Amino acid sequence: MSQRILYWFRNDLRLHDNEGFLRATQKADEVLPVYILDPRHFEPSALGFRKTSSFRARFILEAVADLRKSLREKGGDLLVRIGEPERVLAELAQTYDITELHLSKEVAQEENDVESSLSKRLKTLNVDMVFTWMSTLYHVRDLPFGFNRLPDIFTDFRKQVEKNVRVRPTVAAPDSLTLPPDFKTDELPTLANLGFTEEEIQQPDPRGALPFTGGEQPGLDRLRAYVWEGDHLATYKETRNGMLGADYSSKLSAWLALGCLSPRHIYEEVKRYETERTANSSTYWLIFELLWRDYFHFVMLRWGTRLFKASGLRLDKDKRWRHDEALFEKWKTGHTGVPLIDANMRELAATGFMSNRGRQNVASFLAKDLGIDWTWGAAWFESQLVDYDVCSNWGNWNYVAGVGNDPREDRYFNPYTQAQKYDADGAYAKHWLPELAQVPAELVHKVWQLSPEQQQQYGVTLGVEYPRPIVGGDKWIKE
Ligand SMILES: Cc1cc2nc3c(=O)[nH]c(=O)nc-3n(C[C@H](O)[C@H](O)[C@H](O)COP(=O)(O)OP(=O)(O)OC[C@H]3O[C@@H](n4cnc5c(N)ncnc54)[C@H](O)[C@@H]3O)c2cc1C
Repeated sequence: MSQRILYWFRNDLRLHDNEGFLRATQKADEVLPVYILDPRHFEPSALGFRKTSSFRARFILEAVADLRKSLREKGGDLLVRIGEPERVLAELAQTYDITELHLSKEVAQEENDVESSLSKRLKTLNVDMVFTWMSTLYHVRDLPFGFNRLPDIFTDFRKQVEKNVRVRPTVAAPDSLTLPPDFKTDELPTLANLGFTEEEIQQPDPRGALPFTGGEQPGLDRLRAYVWEGDHLATYKETRNGMLGADYSSKLSAWLALGCLSPRHIYEEVKRYETERTANSSTYWLIFELLWRDYFHFVMLRWGTRLFKASGLRLDKDKRWRHDEALFEKWKTGHTGVPLIDANMRELAATGFMSNRGRQNVASFLAKDLGIDWTWGAAWFESQLVDYDVCSNWGNWNYVAGVGNDPREDRYFNPYTQAQKYDADGAYAKHWLPELAQVPAELVHKVWQLSPEQQQQYGVTLGVEYPRPIVGGDKWIKE
């Protein structure tokens, strides 16, 4: 009997360095590539907003279309279905008389639950599941410690890994593909098929940092533009704390999150750049950040569902969080009266993206200044972010809320001093808060101090066009 393998594409929507898919094609006589949109990912959460906003949904659909195009160029195709993967895949396994199902390994609870449920169904059909670990730079099996002994402190993790482990080389894309002869193609789903109404579909905002088009090819194009054409890698360490524009940081996160880009491919490109152009602390720093990404994957593997609880990884800390919906709404929509926070929250709502500097500040503001349950904030990020990654999002929120595993990572971000440091000329605040356009640079981040005369002069009435701060204000300036 010929080997007919179903390959389930998950967060590995690429052909370059896709070890799982390559192995499946090498082993099989025929491969059935499948992608599934799980309706549970698009439903409203308990907080009333969808788990996935239309920004990310569109990015996913674009990535799926791009993958299908690449597969077709090699003689293959991609079957795309909407449904619960454990059911859809078991049905397909029967319909197509599948011998094995291959997939990448995920680490978070919901994904693990789907894997378990699928495994039970496939057992009755005598179909084996073959997993490949693919999402991180360093392979989990190469770690110099068992994942249950993962260091609590990132620096310890990084030093041990850098000293003892080598990044495995990338693998080639398959040359050609053979589909089952009875393969039937179908139309790609649309946002409407996923339940989005016309009003819900967010249109890209021209003020956004990048257009963010999903797919392997757009991801590779962005990598080339950032590293080679723009030469921005050479100055990454100096610019990475910026908030405005396309090139202060790599903006690779969305493609990494869906697996349109492989972290090992990025690593190899950085190494090539270091050989062909320049090697400095900036070139190293991009790899350093990819190590943070790895770390949060391993933290999720080690700690599992605890990352989603308000107590986080610190059971010793029994902090009481507020559940004030009105305040949360002001934070979500960027109406707190604190320009640094509002500008960032409005960017997120308008584009699905926010800089790392912005994320740290708005998360700290929600958890530390408003005292609101940080899991609400993490859920809002999960909904809105085009680059949402379950490990990076919930892991970073644990850290900023002060409930992560590293006791030293409990920093408070003073929004006023942060704004002075990272937006001294107020350009970022004004970009997203046009009502403050005429306020002089030195006053933008303490707009609450404007006298009635100044408000008239600069065309903004506090409490009317722009809110008074719901918390903080002058206390930050004195701190
Ligand atoms: C509260 C909070 C929530 C976050 N949620 C997410 C998320 O859902 N998805 C996500 O990819 N990142 C998340 N981050 C991390 C970081 O903010 C983004 O990865 C980064 O802003 C993306 O922009 P970039 O690709 O230009 O990053 P660059 O600065 O160019 O960094 C390169 C890559 O390194 C990785 N990286 C950088 N910083 C971090 C970090 N702190 N943690 C993990 N990986 C990192 C990303 O993959 C990024 O693409 C979050 C950070 C915070 C503080």
